Amino acid sequence: MHEFTPEVEALAAEILRYSLERLKDDPPLDGPRSAEDLFNEVGNTITAKGLGGHEALEVFTNVLAKACISTDHPRNLAFIPSAPSEYANLFDLVVGASALYGGSWQEGAGAVFAENQAIQWLIDLAGLPTTAGGVFVQGGTIGNLSALVVARAEARKKHTSAGRWVIACSAEAHSSIASAANVMDVDILKVPVDSKGKLQGAAVAEAIDHLHATTNNRVFAVVATSGTTNLGIIDDLKGLSKAAKDRDIWFHVDGAYGLAALCAPSVRSDFDGIEKADSFIVDPHKWLFAPYDACALVYRDPALAKETHSQHASYLDTLKDDQWSPSDYAINLTRRTRGLPFWFSLAANGTDAYTEAMEQTLTVAKEAAELVRKHPNLDLLCEPELSIVAFTRKGWAAADYQKWSDQLLEDQVGFIPPSSHNGQAIVRFAIVNPWTKITDIQMILDRL
Ligand SMILES: *Cc1c(COP(=O)(O)O)cnc(C)c1O
Repeated sequence: MHEFTPEVEALAAEILRYSLERLKDDPPLDGPRSAEDLFNEVGNTITAKGLGGHEALEVFTNVLAKACISTDHPRNLAFIPSAPSEYANLFDLVVGASALYGGSWQEGAGAVFAENQAIQWLIDLAGLPTTAGGVFVQGGTIGNLSALVVARAEARKKHTSAGRWVIACSAEAHSSIASAANVMDVDILKVPVDSKGKLQGAAVAEAIDHLHATTNNRVFAVVATSGTTNLGIIDDLKGLSKAAKDRDIWFHVDGAYGLAALCAPSVRSDFDGIEKADSFIVDPHKWLFAPYDACALVYRDPALAKETHSQHASYLDTLKDDQWSPSDYAINLTRRTRGLPFWFSLAANGTDAYTEAMEQTLTVAKEAAELVRKHPNLDLLCEPELSIVAFTRKGWAAADYQKWSDQLLEDQVGFIPPSSHNGQAIVRFAIVNPWTKITDIQMILDRL
């Protein structure tokens, strides 16, 4: 065993102190700077002799880190921000220090076992059979793509003379579905949503039947979104699962953001039908209090995924045992055990703490909607189904929203870039952080 040099010892203490302070205090919001500006301040950090650990860390903590917006700030309500628990963040330090290999059971059995228990919690919440299984991949984008590739492989077995392959989803489906279609060279059948923005089973059934009756193209997957990224709307999972099953089509649920709320009793019934999914994804790095990057990708029948995704080569043959190797279940081989921070936090805090934290964010979202409704200058777009609150400001054009948002960040009050709905600019709060209090919301609304 080699001994630490005094320099390494000192650096370890510095890094720990920095990490703990970052966790303890409200993080600053900070904000982006231009590359030119950063270069002027730090110059070229890659040198022949090296800066030394202390100096390199100073460059990072004093300059570079401050040019990154804190995604876990309680008033960062942009896109879908993050809110890792303290335990999850701390354990990420362990993962980083441990050189764990998460691709195979042979090399990472203990870590993979733990990841699988965390995935099993999600499987149980969704009500899939205990034989379901999955893997933590980098994000929802890779999760959706990996699942859809399996779905197409299954369809190819059944329909050998199909023309183009097609994914059926709503116009509100996440951009990663279009990205997957592009990578896979398949088409998308965009089905109109109802007046509440939900994709309904009957509409999808009709669109698929029409396509199949009039072309040689075949829908290989129905993708439901639960909930949508912009407004948190949950598609009609029950109806969509039936439309898919009746036609022997794969049913995939993209719950990157919303399926986290499976652990919240107050909204659980909105996800009824999820138990019928052939595959689903949920990102613990979004609303399940885990650090980047982790998407749980789950299959009803993991053997089908293994058939599609398992890589074969002479140097990998030794791994072809009956063990559970995560690399077999997605587009990945070498992988970080990225599910472990999530597992550690779940194991240490217990699942009740997750239910409580989830209900807390849902309550703040409801209260925020109430404040918006009462605000003389604002119009609530729709009742929040999950934890996204969207509204418009009376009399504002798109440029006004942007100006307001820029100033908000400039003043370090919050990070809330505008979005749009049906061509209309909107303000949108994505509340996934249990540290976001209603007083934080009030502080932002006071500036509208
Ligand atoms: C965020 C999101 C994704 C993409 O997930 P990444 O982790 O960003 O790749 C997919 N679908 C939905 C509904 C999302 O909200």
